[in-house]
Amino acid sequence: MNRDAEYTEVLRGRLTEKRFVHSLNVADSAKELALIYGCDPEKAYTVGLIHDCCKDEPAGLQLSYMIENCVELSEWEINVPKLYHAMCGKVYALKEFGVTDEDMLNAVRYHTTGRKNMSLLEKVIFIADFISAERDYDGVEVMREKAKRSLDEAIVEGLSFTIKDLINSEKIVHPDTLDAYNDAVFNIQKLKAGESK
Ligand code: FE
Ligand code: FE
Repeated sequence: MNRDAEYTEVLRGRLTEKRFVHSLNVADSAKELALIYGCDPEKAYTVGLIHDCCKDEPAGLQLSYMIENCVELSEWEINVPKLYHAMCGKVYALKEFGVTDEDMLNAVRYHTTGRKNMSLLEKVIFIADFISAERDYDGVEVMREKAKRSLDEAIVEGLSFTIKDLINSEKIVHPDTLDAYNDAVFNIQKLKAGESK
């Protein structure tokens, strides 16, 4: 049963106006990408909708929510509060929204860092978050073009920007983010090697 209408009402109350609009836009972008790449558009829409469901909670509350729910945090995760909402989101999606599909839960869990061997749905959500309609950073049009051509190319484009930015401001780069970057670069190389044979 599709519970998107119910989730939308919960999120309207939980999120700031700006984040609520972002969530609706990510849901739309995720559905579009799902249709291009052949993954379930309904699942993609739902995950896009709920992916930031905990982001407007204070960091301290997010941390205690994770501790209550026995989420294991690496030292990189404990020290980067911006990452909390993805891990909290997974728990919230399971407990409050009743989402039990493992792939959907992982897509929420890894939407910020990415990781090695992301599933198609995980990639779709990861990229939808970069190209949602309200995004207007320099280079968003290039990202939108790449997203239509190849998810791996879009991941490399998005992550090279993100990683450079983190390094320039001397912030922690989560190992999963480096894994996601390397994985996408490697996938593109393998594809090119296959094409030139
Ligand atoms: Fe997020
Ligand atoms: Fe987001």
